[in-house]
Amino acid sequence: MPSSPLPLRRVTVLSGGVGGARFVQGLLHGLRSGTVPGGSPDTEVTVVANTADDWWIHGLKVCPDLDTLMYTLGDGIDVERGWGRRDETWSAKAELEAYGVEPTWFGLGDRDIATHLVRTQMLEAGYTLSQVTEALCRRWLSPAHGGRVRLLPMSDDRVETHIAIADPDSPSGRSVVHFQEYWVRMRASVPAETVLVVGQDAAAPAPGVLEAIDGCDLVVVPPSNPVVSVGTILGVPGIRDAVRRTPAPVVGLSPIVGGSHVHGMAAQMLTSIGVEVSASAVGTHYGARSAGGVLDGWLVDTRDADHLPPLEAAGVRARAVPLMMSDLDATAAMAAEAVTLVRGPA
Ligand code: GDP
Ligand code: CA
Repeated sequence: MPSSPLPLRRVTVLSGGVGGARFVQGLLHGLRSGTVPGGSPDTEVTVVANTADDWWIHGLKVCPDLDTLMYTLGDGIDVERGWGRRDETWSAKAELEAYGVEPTWFGLGDRDIATHLVRTQMLEAGYTLSQVTEALCRRWLSPAHGGRVRLLPMSDDRVETHIAIADPDSPSGRSVVHFQEYWVRMRASVPAETVLVVGQDAAAPAPGVLEAIDGCDLVVVPPSNPVVSVGTILGVPGIRDAVRRTPAPVVGLSPIVGGSHVHGMAAQMLTSIGVEVSASAVGTHYGARSAGGVLDGWLVDTRDADHLPPLEAAGVRARAVPLMMSDLDATAAMAAEAVTLVRGPA
């Protein structure tokens, strides 16, 4: 007789921007359509978002990963770009350029600016980033929009990823740029020598983050950047330990498919921390919980099926399934496979 699946009441996802947001969108679709074992439209999803990409520009506090998640799950995203608002216009950017204001390589769209104005005003009035995020999400993540989903910043403290690059013009032979400058202006086109996460050691998890990891039925590491998205979340003191200790199983999905990232610059980031750019190397970099790491299970793409043995040898339960988030159904199927890997089939 088939056993009924364990109910999946609460899921916590540790997410970056575009990759994580697409995954959560597919997970919610699977929960709503009943294809995720044990899940239902009532399953509560908590997304802990990376905030180390955040920065201040033109006097505004911009939180790219929080906003990508909020706009994607609230159906306000520009689907083609994967970030920013749909039907965006760029008058403010053009006006700033006409004044000769730098930097000109970071575009803030007119609609998007409204979000940053609200956030900045609230922060300056003394609200925490968690409180601001909750307020912004009242517009985007009401039950009518995204279902039962809650968005938390990883920390209310300022944490910023900076990248050291070789610079022959500098006396030290290197210079350090903000992550946004490395990614948006330089398109990650030069090797990253070191990834510096400024402020991380002194940061604390935002309210509700540790409880969400400790009190859920499943923790998911989505196909987000392992270094500058998931790595920075796990690096907030207390979060990695909470993932290690939670009674919930922890499952991840590889952002590396066929030896490269799908979008973005995970390859450059992995190289900078000395991790091979492969689905198995990322899985063993996270490591098995049974050996002090953070994973119980790890999904790789079918074209990486030959990567399963080293993962199993490292104590990570692994399976090869299609991992391209080509549409909502495909992504929901990935979420269902992830649940099945660590909690068994329906
Ligand atoms: P970011 O903050 O916007 O860079 O987004 P994330 O860190 O959440 O996700 C970036 C990662 O998503 C990249 O390393 C990509 O390789 C990965 N990614 C994007 N699309 C896909 C996909 O369809 N399948 C898989 N497996 N990974 C993907
Ligand atoms: Ca990001």
